[in-house]
Amino acid sequence: MAEIMLKGYKCERCGHTWVPRDWKEKPRVCPKCKNPYWDKPKKSK
Ligand SMILES: [Zn+2]
Repeated sequence: MAEIMLKGYKCERCGHTWVPRDWKEKPRVCPKCKNPYWDKPKKSK
């Protein structure tokens, strides 16, 4: 999971970081690039 010291999430695709409104629910998409795979780093082949 892409977390940064419990302060927020980081998008593995665009590098955007943000603090979620509700920690109970994991963001479905990156608020910036809207990528649903924001928490999954690109696999290199
Ligand atoms: Zn993003």
